[in-house]
Amino acid sequence: MEVTINNIRKEFDRFPALNDVSLKIASGELIALLGPSGSGKTTLLRLIAGLDYPTAGKIFFGEEDASHRTVQERNVGFVFQHYALFRHMTVADNIGFGLKVRPSGTRPAKEEIRRRVSELLDMVHLSGLEKRYPNQLSGGQRQRVALARAMAIEPRILLLDEPFGALDAKVRKELRRWLREFHDRTGHTTVFVTHDQEEALELADRVVVMSQGRIEQVGSADDVYDRPGSPFVFSFIGESSQLPVEVKDGALLFQGHPIGISEPGDGVGDLFFRPEDVSLSDEQEALFGKVTACRRLAGTRIAEIDIANEGHAPYHVEIEVPLHAPVELGSEARFRPTRWKVFRK
Ligand code: ATP
Repeated sequence: MEVTINNIRKEFDRFPALNDVSLKIASGELIALLGPSGSGKTTLLRLIAGLDYPTAGKIFFGEEDASHRTVQERNVGFVFQHYALFRHMTVADNIGFGLKVRPSGTRPAKEEIRRRVSELLDMVHLSGLEKRYPNQLSGGQRQRVALARAMAIEPRILLLDEPFGALDAKVRKELRRWLREFHDRTGHTTVFVTHDQEEALELADRVVVMSQGRIEQVGSADDVYDRPGSPFVFSFIGESSQLPVEVKDGALLFQGHPIGISEPGDGVGDLFFRPEDVSLSDEQEALFGKVTACRRLAGTRIAEIDIANEGHAPYHVEIEVPLHAPVELGSEARFRPTRWKVFRK
């Protein structure tokens, strides 16, 4: 099911939790809503679900205007961070619940429900555990039961709000891989909320980066990581450093001096680069500063550099250096970004 979100605004006591949000989600797509706390991710998910209604704007499911439809009418499945399984029901009863409470006429026969539950158990790799109660399951297993329960009603769209947030790192990783496979097998349009960028980049077809109730950028993992469209996206996703610069006659100047980088145009702006996109340099035209800390990573090192800023606190940047490069604590390091982006003011 394709979902189209048109110019949505959502206010709580006049506070705009969402401000002019538009997004087209293709049928069968796996979409991540990624952003810091308070950026509006959950609010957007709740509006798609029909748990809340927009102050302005419209939401379409396919061609149908669903903006004022109820949750039931929208037929969406959702799973929250804190799996709300019924504790007094077995796994099988939890999964079949949504079907059993359907009004008579639309309720499948008992035998049909049993068949569907068994199919779903198989799909979430929990066959054999149907008679267990939630407290006899691990956190990851409970979350898979919650997913199976959401899927039982054959939803048009699957909505997940930090579904793995409460689990430990290893289980999270396993469930991530599992969810991707599950999605590829079932082909449901799926929207999930996360503030974990690794999760978003690894799992999603497209990542929607949100900040302060707005969409900053929508794109593939490569788009948002390699081609961030705004200073916010550049600094929110991955590691980066930032320096104020001037562009003059096709060259980049920092503190009035060329640093060996060409950049078209003229004006002032901020230079952004990632630690891995830097090379050490002996050239006169380069950035330089004092190494204040060094950390060993698996195959390389990260050096923290303070660049003097007369009369003010130094600029702090981080660069990745080869293990045996002569970059020592307290020494001076000279380097140039090899990939960068200048956002003009
Ligand atoms: P988190 O990652 O912390 O869950 P989020 O990105 O999901 O954050 P939302 O929960 O969508 O953010 O909240 C967006 C903004 O709207 C926040 O400033 C929040 O305080 C506000 N907000 C959300 N729900 C309500 C509500 N029911 N009443 C008043 N303000 C609300």
